[in-house]
Amino acid sequence: MRTFVRSGLAPRIVFGSGTLSQVREEAAALGAGKVLVLSTPRQAGLADRVERQLGEMYAGTFAQAEEHTPVEVTDRALGLLHDLGADCVVSIGGGSTTGLGKAIALRTGVPQVAVPTTYAGSEVTAVLGETTSGQKTTMSSPEVLPETVIYDVDLTLTLPWDVTLTSAVNAMAHCVEALYSPNAGPSVGPSVTGQAVESIRVIARNLPELKRDLHDLDARTEVLYGAWLAGACLARVEMALHHKLCHTLGGSFSLPHSPTHAVVLPYAMAYNAPAAGVAMEQIAIAMGVPDAPSGMQDLIRSLGGPTSLGQLGLGVDDIERAVELATTKAYPNPREVTAEGLRDLLTRAQKGQQLPRC
Ligand code: NAD
Repeated sequence: MRTFVRSGLAPRIVFGSGTLSQVREEAAALGAGKVLVLSTPRQAGLADRVERQLGEMYAGTFAQAEEHTPVEVTDRALGLLHDLGADCVVSIGGGSTTGLGKAIALRTGVPQVAVPTTYAGSEVTAVLGETTSGQKTTMSSPEVLPETVIYDVDLTLTLPWDVTLTSAVNAMAHCVEALYSPNAGPSVGPSVTGQAVESIRVIARNLPELKRDLHDLDARTEVLYGAWLAGACLARVEMALHHKLCHTLGGSFSLPHSPTHAVVLPYAMAYNAPAAGVAMEQIAIAMGVPDAPSGMQDLIRSLGGPTSLGQLGLGVDDIERAVELATTKAYPNPREVTAEGLRDLLTRAQKGQQLPRC
């Protein structure tokens, strides 16, 4: 007998080149009177561009978003929102800024326009990860889902190559885990499978083009399109071992989000491969490689991506605590997650061992 839960929530999507020019009308359509703009310190210039577009609807900017959404940063942004009397937020930047917008919406109910400039995918999910005293916890609520997402390909042209690569792998990770997710049942399965395979295909095909020319607008468009598809997969099905590990490493060891995804993904795929044969075959076909885990690792390494968790700051002595943290709560995964298996995975990822090519 079929049993499933399906959430039909999805934001309005505006996708294209030059679409930032529509931010004022999109915010107005949500009933906004005064808008608070959010960004990281490095993306403050983008916040200025939003200010110019908003005109008299602009109330102010909070340009202090941080990775992993620390609650103390959210508290400061909430103080400014109240002082300004703002009734809407526009978040412009990567997943760090989107996360801050979601955290504000959760606490106030204000509508959000998200303008993502990386490939993280957070803008289309109802999931929020927040960090309190060094512990990252994740929650899911329709209240955190942005009402409108503006994808403007032009804004991704300034993404440096290292962020382009690791953020795109972050997107592919959503698809990989969607393909073997135990809850990608018949209700969501066929459409999620199609989206995941298409996303992996366009991203894997266009990344080498982008490495040759970071300003290739067609390749940028395809990778951003793939990132939207990947985010839609992330929004629909539960993630597994790979995402759990990356959250642990990011929240408790301060490892950078997308580079951690880029190192861990091939090892997590190799761990799950014996229990996820169909998914691995779909991924291999989408990428045009004989074997999915080593093919993924070869793609990332051939494009100059990070190779080891040691390089990102995880010490050998940290492994045992990471194993403990990542095994405290049970979560769905195609293969049983054991402390021994995780220790082996993390030891190899810490050193950056080459996966065997099948
Ligand atoms: P990020 O937002 O920190 O951005 C990564 C880097 O890209 C930063 O150095 C930033 O300055 C730079 N950058 C962003 N836009 C740029 C642009 N247009 N030009 C030049 N540089 C630019 O990181 P991220 O990887 O996008 O997101 C990571 C965060 O998002 C983490 O906190 C993660 O947990 C969260 N996340 C949440 C979800 C979810 O569904 N809740 C999904 C994915 C990621």
